[in-house]
Amino acid sequence: MQNDTIAAIATPPGVGGIGVVRVSGTDAFSLVAPLLRRPGKPQEVPPIPPSHMLIYRHIIDPTTQDVLDEVLVAFMHAPHSYTAEDVVEIQGHGGPLILKRILRSVLAQGARMANPGEFTLRAFLNGRMDLAQAEAVMDLIGAQTEAGQRLAMQQLRGRLSEQVQAARQATLGVIARIEASIDFPEDDVPTPQPEELRPLIALAQQQVDLLLAGSEQGRLYRQGLRTAIIGRPNVGKSSLLNALLRTERAIVTPVAGTTRDTVEEIANLRGIPLHLIDTAGITPTTDPVEQIGVERSRAAAESADVVLLVYDGSEPLTEQDRKVSSELQAMGFGEYITLDASANDAYQHRRPVVVVVNKADRPLRLEVAEIGAAWPQATFVKTSTLTGEGLATLEEAIADLVLAGKVLSNESVLVTNVRHQEALRQAAEHLQASVISLEQGLPLDFVSIDLRAAYDALGEVTGETASEDLLDKIFSEFCIGK
Ligand code: GDP
Ligand code: ZN
Repeated sequence: MQNDTIAAIATPPGVGGIGVVRVSGTDAFSLVAPLLRRPGKPQEVPPIPPSHMLIYRHIIDPTTQDVLDEVLVAFMHAPHSYTAEDVVEIQGHGGPLILKRILRSVLAQGARMANPGEFTLRAFLNGRMDLAQAEAVMDLIGAQTEAGQRLAMQQLRGRLSEQVQAARQATLGVIARIEASIDFPEDDVPTPQPEELRPLIALAQQQVDLLLAGSEQGRLYRQGLRTAIIGRPNVGKSSLLNALLRTERAIVTPVAGTTRDTVEEIANLRGIPLHLIDTAGITPTTDPVEQIGVERSRAAAESADVVLLVYDGSEPLTEQDRKVSSELQAMGFGEYITLDASANDAYQHRRPVVVVVNKADRPLRLEVAEIGAAWPQATFVKTSTLTGEGLATLEEAIADLVLAGKVLSNESVLVTNVRHQEALRQAAEHLQASVISLEQGLPLDFVSIDLRAAYDALGEVTGETASEDLLDKIFSEFCIGK
């Protein structure tokens, strides 16, 4: 039933200035037109206006003929619409009740309630956009920072798809070269030599690697960086959270151990959503309430991408400080994220630690050398939440760690979607396998099988080889009306 006419409220629930009911399908025009009136002419159904023109009308309930609302309506002729079908968008006043009544009237005319993501699914099925672009619509809606939005917009404009297509074409070129020689052995197609094929495969590999290299960063731009603030009570964790947020969200008190729960807030770090988690400290405690906090903070550390390990610089190290530190080491913290695609452990997600020596406004009494020995790879930053000293440096340190010195430029195509990342990784593996088959002197059929698998994996990003299950899964995650 691809062309039946669907309708939904396209704006988010709640009261807004305006709200939109979207209708799409073969009968969209003929279902909506009878509901519209010129103000002061309740009997007469006006003609359908020209495409893409916003016009002022009253909309009526078809059963009672009551005027429901004043609306602005646009009729958009196929294929020049979001779904590439005939689309009508009705802008009413934003109240949820009014919008529901307008929607009900459209449904009473014979439209069907749209499923989640069905408008975008139709746009995909009608060739208006590919799968990566359809997913970008979802990312755009969910973007938490401007940088996240910009990446989604890029993807919506098809930049990711273009690069994936380039890698796909490169792969197909090698397949064609091999299969021509297999299919027409006795004609003039000579069997390609490994020396001839290897650079062609390398080209495809390069393109996939380039996309993959940007994918770890891309994930962070989209999902944010989970940053746990860890340390024994009273070192200044909550103060640090506040300073980074520049708000007064967490409760700061001079009594040790008042952060009983974990507090989570999102700060914007050069476009990366920074999920800051303030914790009660990992040190053992007998206070049952505090105990809950300690367990939560251990869980927060477990799930963190980065830990800010905070010390009070104005005090000598305590037993509690040492316990927190060794506990974190036992959890495997302390190593950098590798972004280098050519390294053996590429894409492995290790979790770095930034050591924060707080209360720098007071004389230093902390044994910094001992901490340095325990955390040889960690970046050290001196801060004071009272004077603001070192806070910018701390933000810088976190950003550098994540981006490994690279700052997001407008030109780079970052793969923000986990599914795309997975498909690219599979493509890379299959390409690598094809190189190995080639080097082992296996028959070219084998090489070709690996290349085909790589070709298909790449096609999953744009949707050319995506299964129906995958499509269902992706589009069901959309909200209704999109
Ligand atoms: P938490 O238990 O680690 O979350 O520590 P808090 O943020 O609650 O701070 C504990 C105490 O240290 C409070 O009295 C803060 O005002 C104080 N404090 C926090 N940061 C600084 C700082 O940079 N310098 C000084 N002198 N005091 C600080
Ligand atoms: Zn606290």
